[in-house]
Amino acid sequence: MFYVKIWYVPGLEELVAGGKDIFEAALKFYFDEKYSVEYSVFTGVERYIPPDRRQVNAKDFILDPPVELNKKKPQVNIFLIERDLFLPGFNYVFAVTNPALARIVISLFRLSRDYNLVNYVGEYKVKERLFKELMHELGHFIGLEHCDNLLCVMSFSKTLKDLDNKVPYPCETCLERISSILNRIRSMDP
Ligand SMILES: [Zn+2]
Ligand SMILES: [Zn+2]
Repeated sequence: MFYVKIWYVPGLEELVAGGKDIFEAALKFYFDEKYSVEYSVFTGVERYIPPDRRQVNAKDFILDPPVELNKKKPQVNIFLIERDLFLPGFNYVFAVTNPALARIVISLFRLSRDYNLVNYVGEYKVKERLFKELMHELGHFIGLEHCDNLLCVMSFSKTLKDLDNKVPYPCETCLERISSILNRIRSMDP
């Protein structure tokens, strides 16, 4: 049984409540029916914002998130935040995964806005983008790398436009990789 915990900051209650279908769809894709999912609010994101900028340092956050993590294994913790994310060397990122520590952080900051970051986009668009991010990051989590096929959900999205232009599913090549990885994992877990 795979233990999934989805953590979200106050303010994202509505998105999480209305987005359970997309979480379930992404989790089912990777873990079949063999997972349990729990949702929880968390606070303390501010401590990962360096004084010289207004974004959360994803690298620091993912190494030491402000929550008590469950010791159950195997697991994955997915953190949803509202503040913009950056990684040293990148002006911004939509999400970051640390497979070794079983942690994913996804920012809704850009996913919920238009290309100029001025206006908010509709709920449908936000959910579509979030689903792609979940599919992409869970792909990294199980061991996939970036794909050169720009339509593939495992391609790297530098901009929101890139994200909107790709489809929410892996290409044939990535699908084959995913099924061989998952078969290997399942054969170890009878
Ligand atoms: Zn990626
Ligand atoms: Zn691919």
